[in-house]
Amino acid sequence: MRYERKLRVMPKCLHCGEKIRYGRTDKRFCCEDCRVEHHNEQMKQSRAFRRRVLSQLSSNYNLLSTVLQTGADSILLTDIFAMGFVPGIVTSYSRAGKHDEFGCFDIKYRMTATKIYSIIKIQNVSLNLHAELDSE
Ligand SMILES: [Zn+2]
Repeated sequence: MRYERKLRVMPKCLHCGEKIRYGRTDKRFCCEDCRVEHHNEQMKQSRAFRRRVLSQLSSNYNLLSTVLQTGADSILLTDIFAMGFVPGIVTSYSRAGKHDEFGCFDIKYRMTATKIYSIIKIQNVSLNLHAELDSE
């Protein structure tokens, strides 16, 4: 009788890339240190991502405020993009009739393929915030 040795495909540690030579086949790390380091790295990346998003939200808010301070309530996308506005980062979104309404904290605006318009700063923010939370 011939015995064939079944080759075990050894998984690699998600942190250091070393082959995991023992343990369950679904084991993801070679040791506890790698597991902890991997977790810490993930948390660090998550914090960095949140920091970047918050920073961009703040930047978008300042740009929209600048538009309002000039007395305008609209701006061409090409102009505001050139100033550093990033459209995908918002604090709220709703469908208002046929329009998409976006929010950046207490500033609301609508957007077409070429411009941002109907930019308004919401008054009595705390009252509106409670109203929005109550309606959910
Ligand atoms: Zn490892």
